[in-house]
Amino acid sequence: MRIIGHIKQIDMFRAATESGKIHSAYIFVGQSGIGKKLFTLKVAQMLNCQETNIKRRPCGLCSQCKKIETGTHPDFITISVLEDKSWISIEQIREMIKGLQYGSVMGGYNIRVIDEAHLIKPEAANALLKILEEPPKNTVVILITPMPKSLPQTILSRSAIVYFNIFSDAEIRDELKDFNLDEDELNFVSSLAMGSLGKAIELAKDRKFIDEYKNILADFKEGKFVNKRYERNEAVEFLNMLASQVRFRQPEKLGVVLKMRDFIRRNTNIGLTLEVLRLSL
Ligand SMILES: [Zn+2]
Repeated sequence: MRIIGHIKQIDMFRAATESGKIHSAYIFVGQSGIGKKLFTLKVAQMLNCQETNIKRRPCGLCSQCKKIETGTHPDFITISVLEDKSWISIEQIREMIKGLQYGSVMGGYNIRVIDEAHLIKPEAANALLKILEEPPKNTVVILITPMPKSLPQTILSRSAIVYFNIFSDAEIRDELKDFNLDEDELNFVSSLAMGSLGKAIELAKDRKFIDEYKNILADFKEGKFVNKRYERNEAVEFLNMLASQVRFRQPEKLGVVLKMRDFIRRNTNIGLTLEVLRLSL
């Protein structure tokens, strides 16, 4: 998979590599599914790539780039919440610190990524702070989170913060080219994804979900709701989806969709309410 939409950030890291001004701590901020994790891999490749012309980094072909890509590079390690836990523990951070104190195995940058860094336990955050205060040479710690404010101020103040923008509709549609979706389906998926590429791909893969939605939409357009074929929660769910599409394509109609959704929530007749909505769209 390639990265799209992060050109500015990549250029920023390339410039930092050229001038040797790499920070020892970064916080990557943005909602989930927009490629932040993948981007850390590119940063690691950029820093450790063997290509001497930095403008051509990362080459993706040298042994460093390949090891990073396949997750076998000893100096590029990601820490995340363990499967049966809900926090990043102090043990995990201690082990990470130990690895950093030994220094880089391959002689380049020693990079650690902490995914979902907002789930770090307070005592683990304190331990992390110590290594950020006095980082060993060529250490880079990257914290990934959509909620930087949930991190201690002491960590925030020692880190460079990189914000990731959400993807544009055009970028998402372009990335979904290979999923064989028709125009209607593309509109549906990209409007539901609301800028999250990960979410868009997840939806595009879910044929059953797309077909169900299309069936309901077809029934809706033909006014087949009057016989109350759908359950209340199904109707509400449908209107939530319709709302996210309308928000995109006909923002002036959003109000009426949300209003009808709230009517249905409050036990109005589903068929009649949807019929009123259909006639007003
Ligand atoms: Zn390379």
